[in-house]
Amino acid sequence: MTKTYKILIGGKWVSSESKETFQSLNPATEKILGRFQSGNENDVNQAVDAAERAFEGWSSLPAPKRGEILFRLASLLKENKESLARTVTNEMGKVLSEARGDVQEAIDITEYMAGEGRRLFGRTTPSELRDKFCMTVRRPIGVCGLITPWNFPTAIPAWKIMPALICGNTIVFKPASDTPLCAIKFVEILEKAGVPKGVINLVTGSGEQAGTPIVRHKSIRCISFTGSRDTGLQITKEAGIKKVGLELGGKNGIIILEDADLNLAIDGVIWGGYGTTGQRCTAASRVIVQQSIKERFEKLLSERVSRLRLGNGLDSKTDVGPMINKKAVEKTHSYTEIGIKEGAKLLCGGHTFGKKGFFYQPTLFTDVTYNMRIAQEEIFGPTVCIISVKNLEEAIEVMNSVTYGLSSSIYTSNMRSAFKAIEGIEAGLTYVNSSTIGSEAHLPFGGVKQTGSTREAGWTALEEFSEIKTVYFDYSGKLQKAQIDTG
Ligand code: NAD
Repeated sequence: MTKTYKILIGGKWVSSESKETFQSLNPATEKILGRFQSGNENDVNQAVDAAERAFEGWSSLPAPKRGEILFRLASLLKENKESLARTVTNEMGKVLSEARGDVQEAIDITEYMAGEGRRLFGRTTPSELRDKFCMTVRRPIGVCGLITPWNFPTAIPAWKIMPALICGNTIVFKPASDTPLCAIKFVEILEKAGVPKGVINLVTGSGEQAGTPIVRHKSIRCISFTGSRDTGLQITKEAGIKKVGLELGGKNGIIILEDADLNLAIDGVIWGGYGTTGQRCTAASRVIVQQSIKERFEKLLSERVSRLRLGNGLDSKTDVGPMINKKAVEKTHSYTEIGIKEGAKLLCGGHTFGKKGFFYQPTLFTDVTYNMRIAQEEIFGPTVCIISVKNLEEAIEVMNSVTYGLSSSIYTSNMRSAFKAIEGIEAGLTYVNSSTIGSEAHLPFGGVKQTGSTREAGWTALEEFSEIKTVYFDYSGKLQKAQIDTG
């Protein structure tokens, strides 16, 4: 029997007022994993009310005490790492080793933010007047609406939930409709760790029915969204005057110069291009290779790509898991057709795979020019394009020719080339001699241009989830006027 899961409002698991449900499938087997509430505006309103009621208690709890709950949560996440990872593989499809990484990222950010409970630093600075003290303190924002995608169903919610909690906010969380089970399992652990009732509320459902009411809600003071550029744009139009954090798409590239360690670079392309079946915002979908090594590189890379094994992510022999759903497979295939029509040469893949599940073969194009659609638009699938260039200057120009600016990488043994790339590439992340993927929880993460401008994780996450209050404390006992009393 298929289990029907509920939504969490004010500490109670309840059914949606819509009385409707939707199902979530295992993308490798197409087996139904459960039925989930189709949350709507009424559910969101109740969740926001619950979050508002919980705000006073949570925000006034000393931050180190909030940190203690997060430390407890981190150890519960560690205890439950394997079962959470298996849920990620079953529902999202990524191979188990990557799913464990997804959960580990959640553990890392939880520990990091737990420690922030004893920091949450403000600043002090001298006043221009005598007997006056100046400082800044961090204040919580209020109720935060967190809207997340399916590709990191544990890590991305954790990247938002942990800083939001440590800063003293309460939460209405809406996960992607493709991964509601991962979200429920994660939130159950937050409850067990002792996050008080109403501090985190979970509403499952579609973007339109459950997401839009969160974005529009007048009592929600901050929206933190990770997802596609088009949805991000919609959110900026709907949110009104709120703090809005956006982490959107990418069209990331790896530059490989002729002085690079080619085997190392190929490992990076395989990992960046086909890891998570290319469904990472930081996926390396473009490889910008110096002409002099293009032929050798193409040969070595296509040999490696054609050996990648597709299959269920739970099978230890699998290199590449399924895509998230049928629509994603169709989108990827439509880009294969576009690439062929545009005159790019297909070296590997280009087809669906197997009879069950949403599989697409690892696909490699060469002779791609920087302005082809396959080199400009986010495919979000296992498709890599090789673009050849004369030199580093042209490589940087090609790298910057897209509207996105999330991650980038350069393989070279020349320090000057590496630093020129770091200076010249328009992106939030640049890796040297490593792939475009693999951020660490204590460092800022985010992009520029159409990727958005928020920086999640690390100390910058606190900027997203707190307000700075400036405090002037005058102990002179008389009226002192800044800028006017200059004596
Ligand atoms: P999506 O934009 O379709 O959905 C993301 C979330 O937004 C889901 O929960 C969805 O239900 C919700 N949503 C959809 N329409 C909405 C609306 N009108 N109002 C409010 N909420 C709405 O994205 P996706 O397909 O789930 O994820 C893939 C995209 O996410 C890719 O573009 C990828 O690059 C991007 N992504 C970015 C980052 C990053 O950190 N920059 C990380 C992961 C994924």
